[in-house]
Amino acid sequence: MRVTNAVLPGRSEPVTIVTEGGRITAIKESPGVGAPGEEVIDAAGRTVLPGLVNAHAHIDKTLHGGPWVSAPQVETVAERVAHERRHRDTHGLPSREYVASLVEAMVVAGTTHLRTHTDVDPGVGLRGITAVAEVARRYEGVIDIQQVAFPQGGLITNPGTLPLLRDAVEAGASVIGGLDPAGFDDAPNAHLEAVFDLAASTGTGIDIHLHDGGSLGAWEMGLIARMTREYDLGGRVAVSHAFGIAHPPTQAALLERFAEAGVALVSAAVYDAPVPPLRACAEHGVLLAGGTDGINDLWGPFGDGDMLRRAMLIAYRNSSRSDDELMLALDAVTTNAARVLGIEDHGLTVGGPADLVVVDARSAAEAVARVPGRDLVIRSGRVVARDGALVGAEGGNAPPH
Ligand SMILES: [Zn+2]
Repeated sequence: MRVTNAVLPGRSEPVTIVTEGGRITAIKESPGVGAPGEEVIDAAGRTVLPGLVNAHAHIDKTLHGGPWVSAPQVETVAERVAHERRHRDTHGLPSREYVASLVEAMVVAGTTHLRTHTDVDPGVGLRGITAVAEVARRYEGVIDIQQVAFPQGGLITNPGTLPLLRDAVEAGASVIGGLDPAGFDDAPNAHLEAVFDLAASTGTGIDIHLHDGGSLGAWEMGLIARMTREYDLGGRVAVSHAFGIAHPPTQAALLERFAEAGVALVSAAVYDAPVPPLRACAEHGVLLAGGTDGINDLWGPFGDGDMLRRAMLIAYRNSSRSDDELMLALDAVTTNAARVLGIEDHGLTVGGPADLVVVDARSAAEAVARVPGRDLVIRSGRVVARDGALVGAEGGNAPPH
């Protein structure tokens, strides 16, 4: 494949991208001559982004594509968890149909890689893990889906969950989750020890939901940094949401500790909750990745799975105005998110994967600010979506339903 007249992030002159065998084999100024039968796409001066990466979702919970279900107006994580526990069976959750509907929306919006936190508890067992794994197999080669075994209902306070997390790893989860070790589970040391022990003994990564804010959240993050070093898990640990990072007295010191320990941050820029600072994270060398969090589920009504829109929200919540700042937000949903997922070769470079997203913008900064539609999504050198629809959805090469 040959994509001509393509504007890449950080470059003003259009280039030609040549792909072969699913990889980028050349990026050059002249369009050159394609081999006989080679597919040639004229980007016509539009911007080509790398595949978008969603570092935090909950696709097992989604109602996407189903009937409208009202979410409750409640204020705490505990109330939302309790509401979900009471009603998930009524709505047939987890639903393979809804999960597939959401995954398709993500693909047509340019997402090539996804990390999703799947509920594991004695009530739902591994039903979410197996449902997501089945949908992931259906879309193999189009989108890569990584599962976090997530103790949404608590770990220490919810007996029976810990052995299920181990079973979830055997069933394919590659990351261990955690949830407010102090604020929700009321046992910070025991919770974190259980998570780190399990990750160390199963060779998995760690991604902990931390809604605890202020000095409590900051203290827990210090603990996570220390344990990451003690367990030698640098580069494999992420803190999601990290509302406590906004606590001014400890922010710079914590970012320094995260950089040293190899702990990444993940933000979905949700509602009015604090968002980690783009510029300060970049200056300290802390990876800040973007995610969507839950999309249209029993927790809340919003979301569409569009990672470019999420980059815009992260930038907006950071009061970003300059192109440089907008590019930091793009990094959060591309390069940084890929590194959090353990993908080392992400990006538009020769030798890298031929994952390209063509958008109607004249620069990457414009794409973040204006959130244009995705004209083409190319995965491993093959067009998988065009103008908001899967390619081949009418009997061609789209994944079967
Ligand atoms: Zn979440």
